[in-house]
Amino acid sequence: MKRERIYLSPPNMGGYEQTYINEAFESNWVAPLGPNVDEFEKELCNYVNSNAGLALSSGTSAIHLALKLLEIGKGDIVFCSSLTFVASANPILYLGAKPVFIDSEPYSWNMSPVALEKALNKANSMNNLPKAIIVVNLYGQSAEMNSIVPLCQKYNVPIIEDAAESLGATYNGKASGTFGEYGVYSFNGNKIITTSGGGMLISNNVESIEKARFWSTQSREKVLHYEHIEVGYNYRLSNILAGIGRGQLKVLDEYINAKREVFNRYHVALSNIPGFNFMPELKESRSTRWLTTLTINKKMAGISSLELINELSKYNIESRPVWKPLHLQPLFSDCEYFKHMENMSVSDQLYLDGICLPSGSDLSVEDQDFVINTIVNILAVSKI
Ligand SMILES: *Cc1c(COP(=O)(O)O)cnc(C)c1O
Repeated sequence: MKRERIYLSPPNMGGYEQTYINEAFESNWVAPLGPNVDEFEKELCNYVNSNAGLALSSGTSAIHLALKLLEIGKGDIVFCSSLTFVASANPILYLGAKPVFIDSEPYSWNMSPVALEKALNKANSMNNLPKAIIVVNLYGQSAEMNSIVPLCQKYNVPIIEDAAESLGATYNGKASGTFGEYGVYSFNGNKIITTSGGGMLISNNVESIEKARFWSTQSREKVLHYEHIEVGYNYRLSNILAGIGRGQLKVLDEYINAKREVFNRYHVALSNIPGFNFMPELKESRSTRWLTTLTINKKMAGISSLELINELSKYNIESRPVWKPLHLQPLFSDCEYFKHMENMSVSDQLYLDGICLPSGSDLSVEDQDFVINTIVNILAVSKI
């Protein structure tokens, strides 16, 4: 019998979604905006303790609007974490601005305060400070905000927190996504909760969120006829999808606990294997463990992360490399990059050695045992 494929982080409907979708159908609030959108914004703001939120069609559009609110334009510099999904930086290019990439540190895999300080010092000495810094919180965990926030304050550079992967995580007890001027969440299909596609921009600055709301609905002036002074976008989330989001938000805490459980089971079973090093958790952090990730030292383990990924796929198990750093992408080949250490790029190493294991919030113990046993068996064979 062929086993069903075990996915990395599949959507997991909690049971409440259909109720909100039905409400939308019954009231014919299928389009355009509607009560689910308003409530989803309120409920999410409540969850993360932010003043204002704007539900959007994607996390990428939220980053785009955050950059626009900070008046990023042609030729401006924006710093961004290098170890991330391309969506963190693409909106910098939409606006004609120039990204500068910052390395990771080994303790959270997120933006290195050391590399950031080097980059800020150099930019300051050249009188060319960035107009914004996009700090990414990878795989469910916050960056080291105790160091990053004061550094950005020192140079008066606003932070956009890309919390697309870290909704529900905390740092010093404060919600991931609420450390900067703007925070961004994603509800793409693979994220901890999903609307099938969607995002949210949050801020304590209510006026700015209202401005972004205006842009996201084609910048329609408040008159009956269609009057336009500024360029606009069609970026809003539909009332149906917001209904899915409301249902998912109800089970978010449950999913965080489930994902942390998944991590713990992998950790107990595999962390003693020589060369296996799980993504650490900062003492200030409570990660959601959106994905269980680790690095594999081939010399010690006898197998590389890429070889293991290929072997696992033969057993119908999906696993992936960690993000390929953006400074290594052809798209960004002309961008400056600041390393954590002079002689080594941490993000390069995490990319070369990293692997993400199946981490669904509905991953059964049985399926997880199958993944664990398969890894142990693959390692035993590779040693012969
Ligand atoms: C998923 C993701 C995004 C983009 O979100 P979309 O909703 O897919 O546009 C941005 N940044 C990071 C780090 C992500 O993982």
